[in-house]
Amino acid sequence: MRSVLPSNPDLRRLRDLARALQRDCRSGDPSSQNRILAVFPDADVAQVALSKALAVVARGHGYPSWPRLKAEVEARRSLSADRMARRRKIYEGKAKILYEGPEPGTLIQFFKDDTTAFDARKRAVLEGKGVINNRISEFVMRRLSSIGVQTHFIKRLNLSEQLIREVEIIPLEVVCRNIVAGSLSQRFGLPEGQTLPRPIVEFYLKDDKLHDPPVAEEHIAAFNWASTQEIDDIVALTRRINDDLRGVFGAVGITLVDFKLEFGRVREGEVSHVILADEISPDSCRLWDSRTNEKLDKDRFRRDLGDVVEGYAEVAHRLGIAL
Ligand code: C5P
Repeated sequence: MRSVLPSNPDLRRLRDLARALQRDCRSGDPSSQNRILAVFPDADVAQVALSKALAVVARGHGYPSWPRLKAEVEARRSLSADRMARRRKIYEGKAKILYEGPEPGTLIQFFKDDTTAFDARKRAVLEGKGVINNRISEFVMRRLSSIGVQTHFIKRLNLSEQLIREVEIIPLEVVCRNIVAGSLSQRFGLPEGQTLPRPIVEFYLKDDKLHDPPVAEEHIAAFNWASTQEIDDIVALTRRINDDLRGVFGAVGITLVDFKLEFGRVREGEVSHVILADEISPDSCRLWDSRTNEKLDKDRFRRDLGDVVEGYAEVAHRLGIAL
């Protein structure tokens, strides 16, 4: 059977296919042995070499040899690297880049491996983080769409990127808390871990130079960051998202302690309304193992707990996302 090379092929994955074929062939699997014998009739299937399995994988994708398949994959990669270098960057944040999208009104959101904390005084590059956050955010945004929450997510394009709807970002970080942690614990001298009687929704102004100060609804309306109707909609959406995501994470043994959302305005003719934007991932949520309270989120980085990407991967794994 002929397999089709994906548009962004991955050499490592193709090599893994060959290794699996070699292993199955050596352990006596008849269909794997037949695939080898179809190309190398004289092969010793009990001792088959990796080079033969690689050649079979190449043939299976329509290439005469592994070096030819490898050359094609490398050519496609440099082409897409070239395309990436040429496309217009709209905005670069600490953990994401926005590029112009293929259609008007769309953007491409690229998830970086970079991570920062404490007003960017602490920085690191965490290999694999971007790919995991892209997948987790896709999962969560799809889930929220399925319960009727409008989001900017359109589709995932590849490992690190998703196509999103262009919105006018409302300059607020909307934090929802179920359990005392982080800045709430510091501000009021409360121990972490205390369950709040009712989830709390807070607003912070998105302004790095001012260190994202907390703001009240009256400030938001007074300075026209959002209208009172938009504030009401944002609070209602945030509470709805919290109710749903507590259930989603709770079902896989994860406690949703708190999280940050961003919203954007979309205009349809004269009217506009708010939709969910940005990302929802272990970068923007506190997620604790429900049994042990082990942290599976960015606090692993903030507090030097180690195994940061492993924590994020555990969240993906529990949500059923195959990485
Ligand atoms: O630091 P603080 O306790 O206020 O954070 C509350 C929640 O918002 C945490 O889940 C944190 O990861 C998230 N957050 C964020 N981006 C910020 C500030 C907080 O994602 N700039």
